[in-house]
Amino acid sequence: MKAMVMTGIRDLRKDREPLELRDLPKPAPREGEVLLRIAACGVCHTEIDEIEGRTPPPRLPVILGHQVVGRVEESGRGAGRYKQGERLGVAWIYSACGRCRFCLSGRENLCPDFQATGRDADGGYAEFMTVNEAFAFPVPETFSDVEAAPLLCAGAIGFRSLNLTGLHDGQRLGLTGFGASGHLVLLMVKHRFPKATVFVFARAEKERQFARELGAAWAGDTTDSSPEKLDAVIDTTPVWTPVVEAMRNLAAGGRLVINAIRKEGVDKDSLLKLDYPDHLWMEKEIKSVANVTRADVIEVLKLAVEIPIKPEVEPYPLEEANQALLDIKERRIRGAKVLRIQ
Ligand SMILES: [Zn+2]
Ligand SMILES: [Zn+2]
Repeated sequence: MKAMVMTGIRDLRKDREPLELRDLPKPAPREGEVLLRIAACGVCHTEIDEIEGRTPPPRLPVILGHQVVGRVEESGRGAGRYKQGERLGVAWIYSACGRCRFCLSGRENLCPDFQATGRDADGGYAEFMTVNEAFAFPVPETFSDVEAAPLLCAGAIGFRSLNLTGLHDGQRLGLTGFGASGHLVLLMVKHRFPKATVFVFARAEKERQFARELGAAWAGDTTDSSPEKLDAVIDTTPVWTPVVEAMRNLAAGGRLVINAIRKEGVDKDSLLKLDYPDHLWMEKEIKSVANVTRADVIEVLKLAVEIPIKPEVEPYPLEEANQALLDIKERRIRGAKVLRIQ
């Protein structure tokens, strides 16, 4: 099978083709697993964090990609939940132990043995992959393959972030960064909290324009002041300046939810601008988002059907995965980037 393979840690600014196209043997499903013939795989900023070594895969080479849509090709021994040809999705959660206190309390995303698709196990930048059937999700008919892919990470993590804000209808939400996840969160907010107002902070005018088209009440630059103080902010940027700015824009008792697996170091000194009375006092909170649970994925798919959300996607052929990653890194973003595989 064809796969785009990560073979080592690379600096994307210098190495424009970090992933290598290889022909690999088709994997065989082990006990409890299904083999999927992959149709589409979303491209996520987390892959850049893996390639650049901020969340390095424990073994190399590895196949990246954790927003996978495919059809059951074959089931391993003991796997009988899905029929051949059934369309399934795989998300960032590849497995969790099922026994620890986190798994037993509905927080499998915090499991110490959490395994991530496309980092701890081979993912979807390929023609086939295997996964335990308990960690695969039926994909509703509403979506095409490429439309479904971004719901599995950008959508699921956005859904989790939105829940973690504790937002109520009528409140004011800020979104700093407006890529794949931000645009899906905005659509979810408009459905679940029709009286809420959304303020978007983004560096590129193209992103701000997109936010206004989707119904943001206001869109400004990352360092602008929002016209009103915000009850919650979700940060989806890879850097630190928006964290400081978000804290400044929060209302008393407001909460910042940081949706980023890692932050880059380039502007870390902006944290020195944190001023206690301006940025932290008045019971402002910061909470990070870690991973997703299976329930997040199942519920976001349900919600996306109900709204309905049709993610805006830009498809690339598998062989152009490097280009898709560069387009994310260099913020040529509108909607979600997805590899169309077969
Ligand atoms: Zn992702
Ligand atoms: Zn566990």
